[in-house]
Amino acid sequence: MASRRNFLEKLTVSAVGLPLLYHSNPLFAATEAPYQGPVLKVAIMGLGSYGTRVAEAMKDCKRAKLVGVISGTPSKIKDWQAKYDIPKKNCYNYENFDAIKDNKDIDAVYVITPNGLHKDQSIRVAKAGKHVICEKPMAVNADEAQEMVDACKAAKVHLLIGYRMHYEPKTVEVIKMRQNGEFGKVKFFQGQSGFTIGDPNQWRLNKELAGGGAMMDIGIYSINGARYMLGEEPIWVTAQETKTDPIKFKEGVDETIQFQLGFPSGAVANCLSTYNMSHLDRFFMTGSEGWVEMKPSTGYGPIKGRTHKGELDQPHITHQTLQMDGMSQLIFEGVQPIVPLDGEEGLKDMKIIDAIYRAVETGEKVAINL
Ligand code: NAD
Repeated sequence: MASRRNFLEKLTVSAVGLPLLYHSNPLFAATEAPYQGPVLKVAIMGLGSYGTRVAEAMKDCKRAKLVGVISGTPSKIKDWQAKYDIPKKNCYNYENFDAIKDNKDIDAVYVITPNGLHKDQSIRVAKAGKHVICEKPMAVNADEAQEMVDACKAAKVHLLIGYRMHYEPKTVEVIKMRQNGEFGKVKFFQGQSGFTIGDPNQWRLNKELAGGGAMMDIGIYSINGARYMLGEEPIWVTAQETKTDPIKFKEGVDETIQFQLGFPSGAVANCLSTYNMSHLDRFFMTGSEGWVEMKPSTGYGPIKGRTHKGELDQPHITHQTLQMDGMSQLIFEGVQPIVPLDGEEGLKDMKIIDAIYRAVETGEKVAINL
């Protein structure tokens, strides 16, 4: 399935040609001629599976370039140096990376390590005077996220969260349709985010490194999705947890949580977050004039979807390529994506996650104040 997806992804890009795809995306409409503007020079911290995906996607970026690495594994640094042509002077480990402050050849650090490390690492990057791009979830709770926002503000650097869907063409189209009133008054969102997790010894099942369980890792897509699809901020949540395997999913590591969000307009969202069910990557939204279903809705793509008007046919472009070029444009030119992805945005999701966990614990309806 994964290789079929890769094949389709490659086919989509090579058949139409990347420049054409870029041209057809409003974000890059202005870049028909060879791009000559500023290029965001990025170091990746954490050379694991997602870090590798981002590095591969960045090969096609015009406005961003991978120039450095931060890793605790010397052999990985060597491999990456060879693969991505990274000079030795741009290679750091977790002990010495504060010295990046004296490296003029690095503008930003992309933190792609386990969630529990994001806060301290991001704050160290900010103190070194570099822009911070941090993976989701930005931290393990709202207090930590707030500290990161404050540190980046104090250091006058950007803090951007890896919400790649905010640049994904079909998602952007649906958000525009909602903004234009094409669904009428939106009343209901359904988000289903989950997969069956494997190796019981991985960091994602370790409370200290993950901050929780499925909610931190995959449920966050339904939270963020509910907000960008409905275009409102929730004011209350109720939530229920189901745990069928307490050995694998220990205390503080959620297996499955269903949660409901209420919005000021009266709209409601009904969502499922799980590490123990397969084939769950679906958004549905309905309003007085129309509806949309996206399935898959947040995977690496191609995203598929249809509305009351028919199939969504925007092109597939590797999400991380769009994201990194988009973030460069945001940093250098102030061009925002259709939905923001800065630290404040990430902080809202962390506040909602805190409220979901509180609702599970107390069994009560918890107010959310964003
Ligand atoms: P991974 O386990 O594949 O990689 C994590 C990397 O961090 C490894 O290279 C590991 O060596 C390094 N690391 C540094 N200190 C570590 C420590 N103390 N313990 C364990 N590893 C340590 O994980 P991943 O899938 O690449 O996820 C990394 C981050 O990226 C997570 O925050 C995750 O939520 C996020 N992520 C985002 C997406 C997305 O689509 N936006 C997808 C996957 C992962």
